[in-house]
Amino acid sequence: MSASGHGRWVVALAGAVLAMALGEPVAESGSAPLRACDLCGGAWEEIGRAATPHGGREEASGNGKAPLLRCRRCGSLRLDVSPAAVIAYLERSRYNDPEDIDTSRRARSPFLAWICDRFLADLPPRATVVDFGASFGHLGELLMARGHSVIGVEVNQRACRVAEERLPGLQMVADLGALAPRAGTLDAIVALDSLYYVDSPRAVLGQMAALLRPGGRLLTRNTNGSLRALAFRLSSRGSSFATRPLGDACWGFSVAGFTAAVETSGFEVATVAFLEVGKQGGWRGLYYRLSGIIADLSRGRLAAAPGWLMVAVKR
Ligand SMILES: [Zn+2]
Repeated sequence: MSASGHGRWVVALAGAVLAMALGEPVAESGSAPLRACDLCGGAWEEIGRAATPHGGREEASGNGKAPLLRCRRCGSLRLDVSPAAVIAYLERSRYNDPEDIDTSRRARSPFLAWICDRFLADLPPRATVVDFGASFGHLGELLMARGHSVIGVEVNQRACRVAEERLPGLQMVADLGALAPRAGTLDAIVALDSLYYVDSPRAVLGQMAALLRPGGRLLTRNTNGSLRALAFRLSSRGSSFATRPLGDACWGFSVAGFTAAVETSGFEVATVAFLEVGKQGGWRGLYYRLSGIIADLSRGRLAAAPGWLMVAVKR
């Protein structure tokens, strides 16, 4: 090694020591480690490592695992992967593959029809509704058939183009920021199985609150973080709960943590429901229904339901 080579190493080492002394993290490649729960500000504890379909921080090393974090205050789960990796995953995921459009439509339509009947039947006539995570616009199709106008938000540009070609009248945008000129005017925002991919749910909830008119409605569907944390702790090595407790989601929200984030973003929580109809068929569908009924009857204390729905109203 040359003298100048030694010099660079000494400077780099001194910089690293100084950074540690000042409490600054030594920069790694990728984004900085997560410091506090985005929902409630609670501290994270790492409860294990989970396989990631997104390509985690260690993907380059071929490990393919990411830290699984649990909030000590609200109990929510979070997989520590970079936002860029999640967006790249959504670009290639089968949900957004045009080859699979009929399969996804058939699989989703009983659930989406139930959602419309159960939670969106009393929207004002000709309401303006945003579908956050719209994919090919399957929910928008049902809402437009009921006379509403729909704007789909979808990060996958290929899915946006296919949705607009299939459904004349459906407007698609890449992110909520594109809707800023309509602030304070929207009647409803629906986010089914989509908020658990975003890096900062609170930032997105704040954007949603700004877009809705007072009295406007937010309907979300999320996976059950409390159930998944429990299943992760109890499951044996090699089971899918032990290897991929959140499926392909980055968050498993606890009701308490998500409620805190929704309320501090300018909403009033109206309904939390565990019963979901049409989400899955066959035996899984039966499990969804039975566990949902039990969770609803116990007001969430026996929350063995895989997911839950929330309706919140903009103050
Ligand atoms: Zn929390």
